[in-house]
Amino acid sequence: MSYQVTIALKGPNMSGYQVIAKKFRPKKFSEVFEQEAIVQTLKNTMRLGRVGHAYLFCGTRGTGKTTLARLFAKAINCENLSPDVEPCNQCCSCTEIISGSSLDVIEIDGASNRGIDDIRNLNETVGYAASNGNYKIYIIDEVHMLTKEAFNALLKTLEEPPSHALFFFATTEPHKVLPTILSRCQRFDLKRITPEKIETKLASIAKQLNIAIEEGALRVLAGQAEGSLRDAESLFDQLICFEEPPITRSHAIKALGLIQTDFFFRLDQAASKYDLAAAFSLTEVLFKEGAHLQHVLESLAEHFRIIARVQMGEAPPFLSYTTSAKIYSTHQILEILDYLIDAMERGQRTPFKRIHLEVVFLHIIRSMKKIPLEFLVDRLEALKNEASQMSKVTTAPLPIQKTAAHFSPPKIEEPAQPIEEVPFFPETPDPKPISADSLPPPETPPSYAIQEKIKHDQVMRFASVELNGSLKK
Ligand SMILES: [Zn+2]
Repeated sequence: MSYQVTIALKGPNMSGYQVIAKKFRPKKFSEVFEQEAIVQTLKNTMRLGRVGHAYLFCGTRGTGKTTLARLFAKAINCENLSPDVEPCNQCCSCTEIISGSSLDVIEIDGASNRGIDDIRNLNETVGYAASNGNYKIYIIDEVHMLTKEAFNALLKTLEEPPSHALFFFATTEPHKVLPTILSRCQRFDLKRITPEKIETKLASIAKQLNIAIEEGALRVLAGQAEGSLRDAESLFDQLICFEEPPITRSHAIKALGLIQTDFFFRLDQAASKYDLAAAFSLTEVLFKEGAHLQHVLESLAEHFRIIARVQMGEAPPFLSYTTSAKIYSTHQILEILDYLIDAMERGQRTPFKRIHLEVVFLHIIRSMKKIPLEFLVDRLEALKNEASQMSKVTTAPLPIQKTAAHFSPPKIEEPAQPIEEVPFFPETPDPKPISADSLPPPETPPSYAIQEKIKHDQVMRFASVELNGSLKK
């Protein structure tokens, strides 16, 4: 019985809560985020009295398509439009639209009303004049979901719409809308919102809600939102339910089930020490935490992408990235990223998720000892030149010492701080050093030395093909 009392007490609070995305939905054009060009065009349309009959708002989810359509509808029907073409939000029409009770602004979900009968019903009401405002406005969300027959029925109305009827369409997939419909619409493509802008917006929301939250936590949310402000706001809602303020970056990572960044730095350290066994222990940790394979691979790719950017001179998001950037050469980073892209594709099909991840880690650690193909090609080129020079100077002895010295590791990009030295050819048999005994006697004819050189070249070519092949696997 006691729990019923609890529910009764909590009831009013629960119903009073408004999710952040709804609470902070723009009520004026000036509050619309990141779509300045579109807002400017819509305002000018009204200022100049050139309102068209059909508008199409395209863009990925959460960029503000329906918000803009509603705002436009509200402004068009507002009784006290401000001089800078903003709706008043107070007149009869505005308040009805805000509360969703307006008879002049009709919102239709194209996904659940996609048949021809739904559009026929719509066509029947189009003829009636607006009850309050000047225009009768139909907002059709997810318009691409309409059937072909429904589109054709809609087309009939769009061809000769009554002067008081306007159509605002919103879609994430404009390519699925019939070209005959598209050609009758003014189209607006909404921009994806950058993580930096999302972070700024979330910071302002946190300030208004008086919630103490670390900048790093907001960055995590913004990074996960994939350009959708609504996604970011929903994640923010989730986070403030997960943890009491002050909210840290670590809280955000935990709440969203992400992998702690430290994990990737551990992998970098394992790679620098050529610790192959770490591949298994790292996988173990992730699987115990229930991490999803594709998510791990995507996070890994993002990690190496950041390292590549740091190597190219960008400021690191965390200090540890400076250390990691010194562990890998640019060539190795590119190889790893290339491999990860393949691994993501294969990861979707494989039933052996755990082994797949272990192999990925093994591959990353092993890549520390890969000999760049460019280096091998350079070596072959140098040997070829030497051989041709030798054929000219027939009496010159074979430059054995110089050849051996050429097998030192390639100087790709010397790290500023020396990292742990790793032997360069640990898994490849070292090219056989030519001992003094095996040297041709000085009186040997020069053709013999050239033959030896050619043999050497062949060994090198074989080695280059082998090494490259083994890495691709
Ligand atoms: Zn108004």
